[in-house]
Amino acid sequence: MNFPLRNIIILVLLALAGIFLWQVYWLHGLYKSERTSLEKTIKDVMTYCDFAETEMRFKHIKTDGKFNGSIRVNTYKELDNLNKRGTVNSQVIKERESKQGTVADTALVKESDSKDSTLTILVHLVEIARRQLHAQMDKIARIDLQVYDSLLTARLDSAGINVRHQLSLCIDGRTAAKRGSAGFRPDGGSERFVLELYSEGADRITQYVLLTEPLTRTLLIQMAGILTASLLIFIIIGFVLWYLVYTLVRIRNLDEMKTDFSNNITHELKTPIAVALAANDALLNYGMDDNRQKRREYLGVCRGQLHRLSGMVEQILSMSMERRRNMVLNITDVSLKDTVSSLTHEHTLKAEKPVAFTVSIQPEDLTVRADSMHLRNIISNLIDNAVKYSNAEVSITINAAKTAGGVDIEVADNGIGIAKDKLRYVFDRFFRVADGNRYTVKGYGLGLYYVKTMTEKLGGTVSVSSVLGKGTTFKLHFNE
Ligand code: ADP
Repeated sequence: MNFPLRNIIILVLLALAGIFLWQVYWLHGLYKSERTSLEKTIKDVMTYCDFAETEMRFKHIKTDGKFNGSIRVNTYKELDNLNKRGTVNSQVIKERESKQGTVADTALVKESDSKDSTLTILVHLVEIARRQLHAQMDKIARIDLQVYDSLLTARLDSAGINVRHQLSLCIDGRTAAKRGSAGFRPDGGSERFVLELYSEGADRITQYVLLTEPLTRTLLIQMAGILTASLLIFIIIGFVLWYLVYTLVRIRNLDEMKTDFSNNITHELKTPIAVALAANDALLNYGMDDNRQKRREYLGVCRGQLHRLSGMVEQILSMSMERRRNMVLNITDVSLKDTVSSLTHEHTLKAEKPVAFTVSIQPEDLTVRADSMHLRNIISNLIDNAVKYSNAEVSITINAAKTAGGVDIEVADNGIGIAKDKLRYVFDRFFRVADGNRYTVKGYGLGLYYVKTMTEKLGGTVSVSSVLGKGTTFKLHFNE
């Protein structure tokens, strides 16, 4: 199986970048529309509070008895002006003045029945009424900026807009009065909102000017939920894609390992068969069986190779879960002294380099309850690796001791060691350290897998510690 992994990674990164950019674009659009809506809310609040302040002023002068008449608002002229200026040009407004000629008696007949158009005209009417009301009221009683400010602050607060501000009343371009939040000094970053009260010519304008802190913080607080959700979604998608690539990389590595395994195992299986056959041929065809000593020697070679083969077959079979489940173990008290000494002898003969063994078994008659064949294979694999993954010479120390909880067996070498980041994989099926001796030393990544699965099957545990360039120690523990 050949995965175009590079292309998949590129596609995944592109997809992630696309999702990220789309989210940024979408959030930016949302931020802009939220900003527009917030600005509109502030303007609406200013207008609402303006009405409220005018009304309070009106009630005040009425109760004080300073004013006894009524204020009339006539929208006819302004609506006509607006219509001429094209502000409501989609409408044909016919106004029928009633006998009294007040706003309430003005009738509007529209050609379009759309609700939006009616609303537009109503908004204009209200705006005209507000301006006219101001123009007349302000002559009777002066604007109370303190009242307007407290109304505005309360209303902004209840709308969830907690920004410090400064409010000014500007008449004909000059600041007539100022109020605002304590300690707030407007600067270049402040937001500016203007509510025109009325005008009596181009440069004779009365207006409220509201300067606030930047709205970004308020907007971000309002958008906190959606921002968190977007971030979470992005993280989840990122994690899923990362997991996909991680899984593909693992599958590819396993695939490579399996290919390596097939290549190596064929070779490994052929060698003992060829050697055993050659020894057998020598006995059968060249009359070696007459010579007792030669016969024993050749039969010994055959036996050794068959042992090797059986060990390999055991390891291959250990891969199958089914077999592990149905495996029948022959548990006995296995003498460690006998097992270890036979193994050291075998490996000293077999090794193609000088091997020095240091063995300590405490007490000497120490036994382990295990299947002798499998325990032998386990220790043999550890010794085999110690020899394989070492330099020109190797020292192997085997310590077996009785502990409080059972028996510990240590196989330590002074070989090439294993890098820290590879240590946790060494017991995985088909795993071989990629650098070091991988290509010069034969192997198929099953030895330690067998060690672990069989040790666990026997009720024990195995652990490893290693220092790169210094050596490796495998520790087996079996319960009593
Ligand atoms: P292999 O057939 O490759 O020896 P193993 O499962 O026995 O397979 O070992 C897995 C890998 O762990 C080896 O390829 C080797 O890189 C590393 N390894 C195992 N034992 C040792 C050791 N004693 N010293 C250094 N590296 C080791």
